[in-house]
Amino acid sequence: MKSVYIYDTTLRDGTQGEGFQLSGLDKLRIAERLDAFGVDYIEGGWPGSNPKDVEFFREAKKLKLKHAKLAAFGSTRRANVKVEEDPQVRLLLEAETPVVTIFGKSWELHVTDILRTTVEENQAMIRETVAHLVKNGREVVYDAEHFFDGYKDGAGHALATLKAAAEGGASCLVLCDTNGGTLPAEVEEICAAVRRHLPDTPMGIHTHNDCELAVANAISAVRAGATQVQGTINGYGERTGNCNLTSVMPILQLKMGIEVVPRMEELRALSHFVDDISNNPHFARAAFIGRTAFAHKGGMHVNAVQKLARSYEHIVPASVGNEQTILVSELSGQSNILLKAEQMGMPLAKGAPEAAAILTKVKELENEGYSFEAAGGSLELLIRRELGNYTKPFESTEYHTSFRQYRDGHKPVCEATVKVSVNNEIELTVAEGNGVVNALDIALRKALLPFYPEIAEVALVDYKVRILDGHDATAAKTRVLIVSAHGGETWGTVGVSDNIIEASWLALVDGIDLFLQRKS
Ligand SMILES: [Zn+2]
Repeated sequence: MKSVYIYDTTLRDGTQGEGFQLSGLDKLRIAERLDAFGVDYIEGGWPGSNPKDVEFFREAKKLKLKHAKLAAFGSTRRANVKVEEDPQVRLLLEAETPVVTIFGKSWELHVTDILRTTVEENQAMIRETVAHLVKNGREVVYDAEHFFDGYKDGAGHALATLKAAAEGGASCLVLCDTNGGTLPAEVEEICAAVRRHLPDTPMGIHTHNDCELAVANAISAVRAGATQVQGTINGYGERTGNCNLTSVMPILQLKMGIEVVPRMEELRALSHFVDDISNNPHFARAAFIGRTAFAHKGGMHVNAVQKLARSYEHIVPASVGNEQTILVSELSGQSNILLKAEQMGMPLAKGAPEAAAILTKVKELENEGYSFEAAGGSLELLIRRELGNYTKPFESTEYHTSFRQYRDGHKPVCEATVKVSVNNEIELTVAEGNGVVNALDIALRKALLPFYPEIAEVALVDYKVRILDGHDATAAKTRVLIVSAHGGETWGTVGVSDNIIEASWLALVDGIDLFLQRKS
């Protein structure tokens, strides 16, 4: 028996967050992935709220979930209606999930002023709805909405609603910090009081992040005896979001010794998967799984982690699928360069003159506006050149671009001409693209293809432009970051210029150059 169960509500509460939208197919793919990762419950949606969720549950029956139980989410019956006749409750049963989660009101204020019914009727709504779902063979999770606010306003009433759910046969009483304003010490105290009052029904926790305490509050609840933790991947959700499962799971498992999932080392991949599917950028500073969670920049830190990783790392990064990265920056000393060179398979001795030369070059370029933190490809080229481990694969002698905008609604045309020379052979090509940079990319590849057919499989997967503040507007520079991919491998390259096309060209050329270096 597990001591803490993970209940994922990314597909329901998560989608109530701004900028987090999922199609029916997206939801099915995430559900499969969550199951493979090993969460215990997957809340798929609210069949009573929209036809898309009804459709999801119909399709979800075809999923072959190996471990997780699928839950449909909804509310108690309405006031003064027979539970058998409530259409929303009927839809919950029609979803045919093994688990149904319903929420009910714990706060007397909501009962009298929002629902406008009596305390007695509210308790009957909870008890009868839970009992009806249990009678129909469902495992019923009861979400006590606004539990902490309700408890502080009137503990007797809040506890009586939980008792009603327990009497109805709920398998777990989940205390919700719906408004996200409760503090960890209060959560621990109130959860402990609930355990004393209702020791026979398991307790769960559902927190929101309005005070940046959703994870801390969930941990406090577990300390007070909660055995189910609800949350979302990457903390997506209403307002500031839900309890972030990508933080709370490793805390429970790696810090508190409570085994919650079997393959924690796939956590980072799961986090990226959900970002990618929902088309959201990855949050670099996210705890545990963020790109910079184990990135070292200060020269002293870099020096120390090379001797002993745990000197500046709170866990082994691989335990959550992350890795140590060494940032090369203005702050870095030689150690960064040494480690980077070693990672590239070109080890340098400490104090080597080449390392000093590389560092000087990096600092010069950073002064011009370059940044190598996301452009390891360009840095590798720089190191290769300094170490004499570099053969120029082509000379780009000139390029020309044009952009024609028609006023009659005709699509604009972007055209690029590129001239390159490979072993003194000149190749001149022209290409159209849906953008100047795209046209340049296509023309450059076309020119090189006869000499290097393998570049046909290199793809440009990301293109980012940043205008760097100059001291006056005219001096502003443009930095372009490009990510190229081949097979499962990706690499970033960078270009800086006063001109966006030239900056793009430099990054494009580096991207292909690096690929050819690694090939040779
Ligand atoms: Zn919520």
